[in-house]
Amino acid sequence: MAQQQSGQPVIILREGSTRTRGRDAQGMNLMAARAVAEAVRTTLGPKGMDKMLVDSLGDVVITNDGVTILKEMDIEHPAAKMIVEIAKTQDDEVGDGTTTAVVLAGELLKRSESLLDQDVHPTVIASGYRQAASKAREILNNLAFDVSLKDEALLKEFAITAMTGKGAEAVGEKLADIIVRAIKAVVDENGKVDVDDVKVEKKVGGTIGDSELIEGIVIDKERIHPNMPKTVKNAKIALLDTPMEIEKTEIDAKIEITSPDQLQSFLDQEEKMLKDMVEKIKKVGANVVFCQKGVDDLVQHYLAKNGIMAARRVKESDLKKLAKSTGARVSTSIDELSKDDLGTAGLVEERKIGDENMIFVEKCKNPKAVSIVLRGGTEHVVDELDRAVHDALRVVGVVVQDKKYVVGGGACEVELALRLKEFASTVGGREQLAIEAFAEAMEVIPRTLAENAGLDPIDTLVSLRSKHEGKGALKTAGINVFTGEAVDMKKEKVVEPLRVKTQAVSGASEAAVMILRIDDVIAASKLSS
Ligand code: ADP
Repeated sequence: MAQQQSGQPVIILREGSTRTRGRDAQGMNLMAARAVAEAVRTTLGPKGMDKMLVDSLGDVVITNDGVTILKEMDIEHPAAKMIVEIAKTQDDEVGDGTTTAVVLAGELLKRSESLLDQDVHPTVIASGYRQAASKAREILNNLAFDVSLKDEALLKEFAITAMTGKGAEAVGEKLADIIVRAIKAVVDENGKVDVDDVKVEKKVGGTIGDSELIEGIVIDKERIHPNMPKTVKNAKIALLDTPMEIEKTEIDAKIEITSPDQLQSFLDQEEKMLKDMVEKIKKVGANVVFCQKGVDDLVQHYLAKNGIMAARRVKESDLKKLAKSTGARVSTSIDELSKDDLGTAGLVEERKIGDENMIFVEKCKNPKAVSIVLRGGTEHVVDELDRAVHDALRVVGVVVQDKKYVVGGGACEVELALRLKEFASTVGGREQLAIEAFAEAMEVIPRTLAENAGLDPIDTLVSLRSKHEGKGALKTAGINVFTGEAVDMKKEKVVEPLRVKTQAVSGASEAAVMILRIDDVIAASKLSS
């Protein structure tokens, strides 16, 4: 509400709207954002704890994955939501490092609060943070090592590091092998990886160790007729996105039949059309058909009679993957189907997994889409395993694409803190204070890793810093969370893609700057539902 000179009030905002300004607005935003970051802190690292989240319907999710926790939490505060966005962006860009990014953002905001208390203006802090973030990216690039795609043992280590702390360690080696083989199969000639080409099928039952890689695609469908073969070797596969039935006309048509003969010939005609479809499939030489639409009962019968296996209502995405792994082309018309459209697979087989039948299209030659079947004792186990495998697939995909990596265990962050402090002294002015704060904030990662492992954070930091400085400094020294010692993370094989770290630093600093620059929160009154 503003006031005219005459004292007459002018209503600007709708009744019920609230407005918070200046330091109060900043204080509220910083507190809300930090509270969210604080919530995921205890999950960081291999010794991090899990969270159990219960939604309004009573469904339970148990996870250690930062982005999953934040997505499941019903967060309302606008500044807190911005922190959730960091995790989402991190997840979209690299698929891992979500907790790291959020914890970093929380710490940057905490440090900025004390700067604000010292009357450093938010724009000065923002400018310092931006400079520090850009310098941090430069330092990280210099700390990075090259990856050779031939080094499978190293590629597996990326998967293992990404999966630590997520309940998959016991069979980490086996899963890592599956993941690396999957990514190597789907990488294209330009070195690009689309993780969607790896289909992950979850099935409760068995043990995690029963999980396997299928060199082809697994379809969660059964063959449509019991007389169809269960196993087809040297399969020739037709993919159809057209129905194998007679489509009803869109317009209401009336056919007048005046004699029983006419009816019979009408039915014969229909039957012939359906039979022709099967004849055509047979003629081009297909012995397996995957149809995206429906399949008429009669067609099912004829297909079975001809020893052709078929599945119907196959998802469009599955059809595309089948095309990639078998080399088939999806046909939109049975009439135009030709030999060249068919794909091949060494084996197509319906098998029972748990108590459900699934169709395995495997032993494909050079498949450009593959599947991973995940098994585990309970739904919660399989779900968490699925998240871990997804993260690991993304991480291996990123590293295969970028071919650059850094070491984990807080090594990069300690190095960043030290180098950024040196950089701060070259900047001068009040921005120097902000850059120093940014540098100190980096240490939250090793500190939290130590805390979560039940180690003394101060002792850990002191020993890490001493390893990183002076004569014989070891830039790759990080914390072994099992022994508490500062050791060479390169030797320990705790490795992460460079992009995980650069994105975490950029995402965290951008969000912190954005929250800091807000000095006025105008909230409309809530619409009553
Ligand atoms: P995020 O969601 O950020 O990936 P994680 O809980 O996966 O969070 O923890 C990642 C952190 O744990 C990284 O800083 C990584 O370097 C560290 N880390 C992973 N494995 C180890 C290990 N074996 N020893 C020490 N640190 C590790």
